[in-house]
Amino acid sequence: MITIQGKGVSAGVASGPLYFYRRAKTEIVRTAVADVEAEWKRFKAAQEQAIGQLGTLAEKARAEAGDEAALLFETHQIMAEDPDYEEAVAEEIRGGLNAEAVLCDVRERFAEMFASMDDAYMQARAADVRDVSDRIIDVLSGTVRGGIDSDVPVILAADDLAPSETVQLDKSKILGFITGGGSGSSHTAILARTMGIPAVIGVGDQLRPEYAGREIIVDGETGTAVLDPDAATRARLTEKRAEERRLRETLDRLRGKENVTKDGCRIRICCNVSDPGDVDAVLENDGDGIGLFRSEFLYLGCDDFPTEEEQFAAYKKVLSDMEGREVVIRTLDVGADKQIGYFGLPHEENPAMGRRALRICLSRPEIFRTQLRALYRASAFGALRIMFPMVTSVWEVREAKKLCGQVRRELAAEGVACADDVPIGIMIETPAAAIMSDRLAKEVDFFSCGTNDLTQYTLACDRQNDGLGRFFDPHHPAVLRLLKTVADNAHRNGIPVGICGELAADLQLTETFLALGIDELSVPPRAVLPLRRKVRETNVAQVRGRLLGALDDDAAPL
Ligand code: PEP
Ligand code: MG
Repeated sequence: MITIQGKGVSAGVASGPLYFYRRAKTEIVRTAVADVEAEWKRFKAAQEQAIGQLGTLAEKARAEAGDEAALLFETHQIMAEDPDYEEAVAEEIRGGLNAEAVLCDVRERFAEMFASMDDAYMQARAADVRDVSDRIIDVLSGTVRGGIDSDVPVILAADDLAPSETVQLDKSKILGFITGGGSGSSHTAILARTMGIPAVIGVGDQLRPEYAGREIIVDGETGTAVLDPDAATRARLTEKRAEERRLRETLDRLRGKENVTKDGCRIRICCNVSDPGDVDAVLENDGDGIGLFRSEFLYLGCDDFPTEEEQFAAYKKVLSDMEGREVVIRTLDVGADKQIGYFGLPHEENPAMGRRALRICLSRPEIFRTQLRALYRASAFGALRIMFPMVTSVWEVREAKKLCGQVRRELAAEGVACADDVPIGIMIETPAAAIMSDRLAKEVDFFSCGTNDLTQYTLACDRQNDGLGRFFDPHHPAVLRLLKTVADNAHRNGIPVGICGELAADLQLTETFLALGIDELSVPPRAVLPLRRKVRETNVAQVRGRLLGALDDDAAPL
């Protein structure tokens, strides 16, 4: 039995075979081949297999999202057998180079050619040719793309997982996560919590390749993982899992009950999600609505910009499935740790402070307009609210709202139905926005505080850096004081304020949030009922003076 200690970031106990995440190999060895005819045949066989894979993907996309979604894969099929592309490959193979290396060369040549064209559409084809070439290289080298090639569900191990990798995983195959690196505020940890999958991160080099396939139990609360557990450990953790189930059953009795304190203060408890499929978990856990739909995960899950139709289908599904409950869809928040190749963003030394979120949307309005058109079209199918992330200035909000107005008018001229009222809100996740919240409150219909970023930017602590330990302290009085400023400014201007960062689910702060008059907490679906129980146990009048006084005294209330 081997005990591995890390940090628990998503509670729960899970056991299963340990499986190492396979990342597509990028290192290609260049070798000389003597039999060029055989090498050409290898290429042709791999090309045919890749075209077959693309056909399957096109069919799947067609069934799930319609003809337009299938088009991307069909375009890739055509590219894979484009005569110019094939001739370039043939020529280099005739020169005696192995097919994998040839494809790397041809991939770069064609990608550069597309990227240097004037037309934006043709420039975007650079990503396609890279993708097609990589698919054929994967077939040649026997690489399974970022997948879980297992018939049974597994405990997934990786050095670290980028959000784009996590989002593309087949969730039905994952019982738990265990990673060498990572931080509790990273989007991968957030996704694990949203999916309700136990996760342990930061185990460093304690995981060894020879452990693959062996039984492992992960405890996402204590951050412990046990490989080859003995009978006593297995029994202890099985009992803990049974205990968790009993607790869930008790919490289930709170379904349908109100989020009201003993002295009558009410608060909304909504959910954070990132995929239309997450709606089931919201309804199961009785969330009042969706307080944060991280729309960027639609972009992270594919190889090219999702079209207006694809986005419309996703937003419409969320809104209709929520059956009239409010849904806050946050506009695109890429950049920082959520990098997407096909955006072609320049390398930045410090991307968390670079071009991300609304900054990208305002600099590349064609991307933003596509999303806004899809959102407004979907607004006819439910109670939509639109929210902009990463705001620092009033002018940004005005410019974003102007684009919303233009899109609405455009759709009206086309005769497309939209909801009459689509409230617009912003995330307060930079100190600038918090400090300017008196002015910003006059521009929008609601605020939602993103405490993950607000903590990072206020304390100058990178949320991705787990080494900062106690310096990264979301309970810091500076963060809580900013929340108070925001809440006061929102209420003075008659608009509601919520919290949708991970702090919203922190039961140690529920009383403080109630005392501040926060109107809505948005949390991972499985955190709704524990939070409801905490709210129902609280008497705000009894604690308000002490908690708010502690903030004024410059001491953390905890
Ligand atoms: C936040 O910053 O608190 C937030 C909710 O947004 P994200 O975690 O997606 O950056
Ligand atoms: Mg944020």
